[in-house]
Parts: sequence; C-alpha cells; structure tokens
Amino acid sequence: MIRLSNFVDGTHVAPENGKYFASLNPATEEVHVEVPRSEASDVSKAVAAAKAAFSGWSERRAEVRADFLDKIAAGIDARAEELARAESLDQGKPMSLAATLDIPRAAHNFRFFAGVLRHELSVAAPMDRSMFSYVRREPIGVAGLISPWNLPVYLLTWKIAPAIAYGNTCVVKPSEMTSHTAFILSEIIRDAGLPRGVVNFVFGLGGEAGQALVEHKDVPMISFTGGTVTGRKISETVAPQMKKLSLELGGKNPTIVFKDVNLKKHLKMIVRSAFLNQGEICLCGSRIYVERDIYESFTEAFVKEARELIVGDPLDKATFMGPLVSKEHLEKVQGFVAEAKAQGLRVLTGGGRPENLKNGFYFSPTVLAPEATGKSSEGMASEKAFHASKIQSDEVFGPVVTIAPFDSENEVVGLANSTKYGLSATLWTDSLSTAHGVAAKLHAGTVWVNTWMSRDLRMPFGGVKESGLGREGQLDSVHFFTEAKTVCIRHD
Ligand code: NDP
Repeated sequence: MIRLSNFVDGTHVAPENGKYFASLNPATEEVHVEVPRSEASDVSKAVAAAKAAFSGWSERRAEVRADFLDKIAAGIDARAEELARAESLDQGKPMSLAATLDIPRAAHNFRFFAGVLRHELSVAAPMDRSMFSYVRREPIGVAGLISPWNLPVYLLTWKIAPAIAYGNTCVVKPSEMTSHTAFILSEIIRDAGLPRGVVNFVFGLGGEAGQALVEHKDVPMISFTGGTVTGRKISETVAPQMKKLSLELGGKNPTIVFKDVNLKKHLKMIVRSAFLNQGEICLCGSRIYVERDIYESFTEAFVKEARELIVGDPLDKATFMGPLVSKEHLEKVQGFVAEAKAQGLRVLTGGGRPENLKNGFYFSPTVLAPEATGKSSEGMASEKAFHASKIQSDEVFGPVVTIAPFDSENEVVGLANSTKYGLSATLWTDSLSTAHGVAAKLHAGTVWVNTWMSRDLRMPFGGVKESGLGREGQLDSVHFFTEAKTVCIRHD
C-alpha cells in the first residue's frame, strides 16, 4: 500500500494533523492508497508557498516557463505506464483507456500551452501619430485548482498547464477518490526542477481542504471542474470575495440520431459515446433520441452492440468498461435505474451487476426505453411523462442511457434543450444542412456532428446553463489565468 503526501514548497510533507483516509481500488474493494486528510492549515502553508514563489516565477521569460512545461510533459511520457496503471487502480477506468487517452492528453496539455506561450503576440493599436495603446496580459497570483475523479490527471493538467504557463503559481486539490496520479505528477514536477512553490498539491476532502482553498483570501481565482451542486456552493463562497471563477460542471447530453445516419459507419462510436469510461465522462450522451422511422432498427442494433461490450478487470487489455468509481456512486446509479423501472421504463439490456463479477463496483451497460413507442394517443401521453422523468433530466454519470423516438426536428430540439444542463450534444446525420441548422438551435457549449469527444484544444470548451461558467481552451484559458491591462502612450 502507498501512503501519499502533500507537496508544498517543493517538498513532500505529511498533513499537519497526521491523519489519512483510505482510497479503495473499485475493482477489488481493497485499500489501494492512503491519502492525507489535509485541513485549512495545510492549505494555508501551500498558499503561502505559492504566494512567495509568484514574483520570481511570473518574472521569468515566457520561453523559460515554456521549457519547464515541456520538461513536465517529458516526465509524464517517461512514467506513462505507471500513471496509466495508477489511474486505473484509483478510478476503475480500463488501463488501456488511461494509456491511450488520459495520460497522453495530460502530457499534451503541457506541450500545447508551452506552444501557445512561445507563439503569443500581444495586441497593439495606434490611435494617431502620437498615441498608441497596447495590451499586457498579466498573471494574477495564486490559482486554486480543483478537479473531479473521472478524468483525474487529464483534467488537472488542463488547469495547471495554462495557470503556470502564464506566470501564476497554484495550489491543487484533486478528488479524494483519485489522488494517486496527482501525487505522481507532483514527483514529476519536482524532478523537472520547477522552482519550489510554483505548483503545490494538497490532498484531502472537498468539504475540508477544498473548501479552505476556495475561501482562502490569498487565492484570487478558482478553476473548478466537478458537479453542479459543488459548483454552486463554490460560486456562493467566492462571489462576495470577487474572485475570478471558472466552472466546468455536469451534463445531461443529448445524442440525436437522424434517419439519414450512416449507421454502418457510426454505430460503434455512438455506443462508445454512451459507455466510455463506464459512462463517467461529463460528455457522454445519456439521452439518445432517434428519428421514429429508424427507431426500432437502431435500438436493436445499439442494444446488440452494448451487450457485446466487455465489462471486467480494468487491467485486462480486452476490457471496455471497468467498475464504477465507488460503492456510493454505484448505489446512486442503481437508484436511478430502480426508479426508472418503477416508472415503467423498459430495460432493454443491463440494469444491474454483471453476473460473473462478484466483487467490485460493477454495473452493466444499461439501455432503458419508454414504455410505448407507437403513435397512439396513449403512447404519446406516456412518452410525455417519460420526457419529464428524473432519468431524463438528472445526470446519472454512469453506464445508463435512454433511447426514445422523435418525429420532427423542432420536437427533438425542444427535447434536447429541455434540461437545466447544456454541456454538449451530438448529432448523427448525413445532411449538412440538418447539421448546421440543428447545431445552431441547441443550448450546448459543444456540438459534435458525426464524431464525439474530438477535442481541438484551441477551441473553447465549457457549458451553458447549469453546466458551467466560462470556457477553457487556448484563448479562454489564457484570458482566465491573466488580467488584461491596457497601456496607452502619448509620445509626441
Ligand atoms: P464533485 O463536485 O463532487 O467534486 C469535484 C471536486 O470538488 C473534488 O475534488 C471534490 O473533492 C471537490 N469539492 C467537493 N466539495 C467541495 C467544496 N465545498 N469546496 C471545494 N471543493 C470541493 O464532483 P465529482 O468529483 O463527483 O465529479 C463528477 C462531476 O464532475 C459530474 O457532475 C461531471 O459531469 C462533472 N465533470 C464536468 C466536466 C466538465 O468539463 N464540465 C468534466 C468532468 C466531470 P472530494 O472528491 O474530496 O469531494
């Protein structure tokens, strides 16, 4: 068993209170690592270290900071296999997924912002012969970075990289359930020779270490990815302090399949978009709407494909889905399915634990459908109740999807926009005009057409409505982690 330690001012240290809690491997239910249960005093030390490091770090030339980012990326590459294994043991995600998605993307996040920094130009505008203005993008200070458990190191590096690239220092609080890869990252950062205090890690519980970080008076900006309920609480805490705040929150994303879809080409990706990482990705499509003409045939093909997904040991290369992250989360997902069943939804596949898996927090890929799908008035009434039900409006964040029919573009746009969330939406169609027309009408931060989760880091990413506040991405992250100062000079 591994005991993690905080990383403060360039040194690994125990929490001041000497307390730890156990983090389980969700595949075996055995203790996997011991995590410091840090408190406000640990956070204060980390913030003080970050504050002290700020002027030295922010005054370094951009190329020098970019070189450090590249060194961190190389360090991630060098320990990629260890990181992938730790990510899998911590969260339950298949190690093959961590090795091909999470860890390479974590390294890429550092390389990407090193590149952005090296190629950046600032804005200048002459007014007349004797006067011109230019914009300085200035770092702000200590950034508080808080991340969730589902894409632990990938989402964390997406915050650390732009924060330090632009001269800020930071204090990081990863999820209590997935702290192991963040700890390895702290070693990589130390070994890359980053000046001490620039990046600090404090492990612990959200309500303790996380809350202390959010409240700290010397932390002028918080970048948070996690659930909407937590996001709202953080928002309420920081608003009176006028802190900068970026929120990347939950989703209830629609997948819209039009009758002209090329299913032969896209079915596997549509299934993947529902169940990848056990459906524990904020971008997974959990409400699938299918044009009625192809509803029956699509559903049959989708269910067949879902049944063939391999659920099992996340360390096994053949596994597509591992266990859910925790017992509590498994129970939450089970609760959603039980309620949907009680409301009369049909379980087309899944609905419980795979029979061959006795231990671990496993749940089968599950497909639910409304009771009636015909055009009779009774059927339509039951569809109406279905669209208003909890399973259609709340984020399950597990391997559970619904499939329902629709009759017109207007109807499906209304259904897609009917939740409080607006993170992403995915359209499957061969018609360019349908793609552009529907994309324009959807309330979502990202709309994918005939693809899913393809990310160009230069593009803005984030949600509308209760899915978030602000955007991350090339310019957006730079704008969040800097303040613009306009300098106007008269020189006659
Ligand atoms: P939570 O909101 O429970 O936790 C997120 C982070 O916040 C964790 O590090 C948590 O610590 C911490 N935290 C909890 N309470 C507080 C507090 N009072 N003050 C400060 N920090 C706190 O989310 P989950 O970890 O359960 O992640 C799943 C959610 O994240 C889903 O809703 C998902 O949609 C969303 N998400 C959004 C993404 C996006 O880009 N929009 C991407 C990925 C996920 P601890 O773990 O110790 O409680």
